[in-house]
Amino acid sequence: MDLLTLLLENKLEDSLPFPPALKASWLAEGVLQLLPQELPQEKKLDTLIISAGIHGNETAPVEIVLQLLSQLAQGSLPLRHNLLLIFGNLPAMRTGQRYIDNDLNRMFGGRQQNFPPGNETNRAIELESIIRQFFSEPAVMDSNKYRHLDLHTAIRGSCHEQFALLPYQTRGYAADFLQWLEDSDIDALVFHNSAGGTFSHFTSEYFNADSCTLEIGKALPFGQNDLTRFSNIATALQDLVAGSFSIRRNKRVFKRYRVVDAIIKQHDSFQLNIPEDTKNFTELPDGFDIASQQNQSWKILSPANFILFPNAQVAIGLRAGLLLAQLT
Ligand SMILES: [Zn+2]
Repeated sequence: MDLLTLLLENKLEDSLPFPPALKASWLAEGVLQLLPQELPQEKKLDTLIISAGIHGNETAPVEIVLQLLSQLAQGSLPLRHNLLLIFGNLPAMRTGQRYIDNDLNRMFGGRQQNFPPGNETNRAIELESIIRQFFSEPAVMDSNKYRHLDLHTAIRGSCHEQFALLPYQTRGYAADFLQWLEDSDIDALVFHNSAGGTFSHFTSEYFNADSCTLEIGKALPFGQNDLTRFSNIATALQDLVAGSFSIRRNKRVFKRYRVVDAIIKQHDSFQLNIPEDTKNFTELPDGFDIASQQNQSWKILSPANFILFPNAQVAIGLRAGLLLAQLT
């Protein structure tokens, strides 16, 4: 059976042997901790978390992480990190949905309390508890650096196909992490301006990890993804896992944006005045009325001319879009 079938049938844990150099522990369904047993002398290991499938219909990241897992299990990819691999929302993966009850990636940092109990609130509680347990492992506590890459694919088309969202941080962003993102040949970075309930914000805020949500393109159903379109990400992840830092950027343009404002839907009268298929990072003219609801409207004001994640269909209280300014 292939690894994806084993994962979806919850049989991966019993079927995947690892080489003796790796200590493998399954901490929950779809959560694998791998600790290298042959430690390099006088050098601390860094710690890395890679998660995929927090949204169940975002399949390409799951296939990429399974590929990494297969290489680690076969011993063809060396592991130079304490590693936690997470397949986020297995029930939603099985049904090909973004989520079963509510969006898991709005619930971290205790925000699951704001939602009625269900599949995702349980998983958010479980994942937070596992992350705490992982960070209390002696080998992990002893690390120099912590990184977390949460892999996603976007729903809509995008003027920048691959981009990273960096959580809001009061501390600075690590230069070597930003360099790795640039070298991975993604097209853009977006810096958040406020705290949020994403998985990457949680690991950044509570564990000082260099974290990001990595949007790697558009995904098709399982088995239909052309993984060559994501080969830069797969290569960059292998490079990170193996601790080699050997990748170099090939693409020219690398844009940076910051979030200036969030459009929050708070009323049934909410309207977004752009077509539903408007691409991420579309530039809008100064003065354009982009959204309105009872007693409130949003106008495009320079320099925040770019729209990200426009979606009028979100539930009341949730974000219907972000307005970005380009950094020069
Ligand atoms: Zn997603």
